Amino acid sequence: MTQAVVLFGSPGSGKGTLANLLKDYLKAPHISTGDMLREHIREGNALGVRVAATMQTGALVRDEVVDRLVERRLAEPDAQAGFILDGYPRTREQAERLCNWLDSRGIRELVIHLIVDYNIIVTRLAGRRQCPRCGTLYNMVSNPPRVEGVCDLDGQALAIRDDDRESVIRARLAAYESQSRPLIEFFREKGRRLFEIDASDRTPEALLSQVCREIGSPEAGLRAEPAVSG
Ligand code: ADP
Repeated sequence: MTQAVVLFGSPGSGKGTLANLLKDYLKAPHISTGDMLREHIREGNALGVRVAATMQTGALVRDEVVDRLVERRLAEPDAQAGFILDGYPRTREQAERLCNWLDSRGIRELVIHLIVDYNIIVTRLAGRRQCPRCGTLYNMVSNPPRVEGVCDLDGQALAIRDDDRESVIRARLAAYESQSRPLIEFFREKGRRLFEIDASDRTPEALLSQVCREIGSPEAGLRAEPAVSG
């Protein structure tokens, strides 16, 4: 059985942080469309050049572009037993396409909606730093690195993502409200399995253990190992 998890929520709701913890538990790859797109930008290839300007404004990249990236990624060998989608789907067209893809393979996904208070989101995004080499996320307030400004894992100087600046944060949140949030209703209407959780003041570890419990529950239709502790 394929373990398919879709992490859904506003920018700054903690999808990436949870995905990083969850991938060890499920032993499934973390597939982040944002990370994939940034990788193309870093490589400076044609696709990267095409999406860079859009991403810098905080708007969504065209559906065809991300759909193709995700479908290719899901065809890779390491995604056959399961995967964790982070940041996809984000539009109605993406959601329909993904649901068709899953249904045609008999895969039942679990959508996890991380609900976070708007003010907390803005504070989190403004304090966010990322390692430009390995992609590890930090937060100056809630999750600082051991040494200020330096990645714990590889010693690289941490960077502010181009789209974590204030005006762009507002545009990203607006795109979420108008294009992505309505998908919750779509998931409900279509009877997709949806688990909604208040992630405003839970630590990433507390969130992980609740999500693991949900994944392990029989209705989830997913295989899971016993919940991790500590
Ligand atoms: P966040 O969830 O914090 O906004 P991401 O890294 O997921 O960060 O996304 C960063 C940017 O990448 C988005 O603002 C958008 O431009 C682009 N992007 C990522 N995923 C998608 C997607 N599924 N559809 C369209 N654009 C996307």
